[in-house]
Amino acid sequence: MIATDDIREGEVTVTPPPPTDAGLVFIGRIRTPWRSRGETPRQGSPDGPVCRLEIFEPWTAALAGLDRFTQVQVVYWLHQSRRDLVIQRGHGIDGPRGTFALRSPVRPNPIGISSAALVGIEGSTVLVRGLDCLDETPLIDLKPDRCVHSMAK
Ligand code: SAM
Repeated sequence: MIATDDIREGEVTVTPPPPTDAGLVFIGRIRTPWRSRGETPRQGSPDGPVCRLEIFEPWTAALAGLDRFTQVQVVYWLHQSRRDLVIQRGHGIDGPRGTFALRSPVRPNPIGISSAALVGIEGSTVLVRGLDCLDETPLIDLKPDRCVHSMAK
């Protein structure tokens, strides 16, 4: 688990080029019980707490039909991550490894992806279970997890 920005033995940083504007817009924010990286689970679990995806205007209309699905993919911006490590130590992994061989939050573009259970939709807020991010993490996208439909809908 990357809980601090410290460099550990065997890790390698680079000087990244200045960020360019890829045109991302944050469509909402994620509300979770976790206030520090150290206490946040490394990967979400179906038994985890219900978290809230607060969708901003003008995007709330884009939720229409999402309730047909039982599983959603949540894409988010791991905004507190450093972005310059190419070799790093992953949690529970023996020795340093390349960033692209890990699901670490520390990466050039700190995008996190989780498959989460859709618990419900309350107005502009989507309730899900199975996340692993800090409270107030910016939300980039939300999409049905392939074709996992609710049988009742
Ligand atoms: N499930 C996603 C994936 O696989 O793409 C993210 C996995 S990443 C290993 C999850 C870890 O990222 C958490 O345990 C926490 O240490 C860290 N993290 C969570 N939210 C973050 C944020 N907003 N900024 C920086 N790090 C964060």
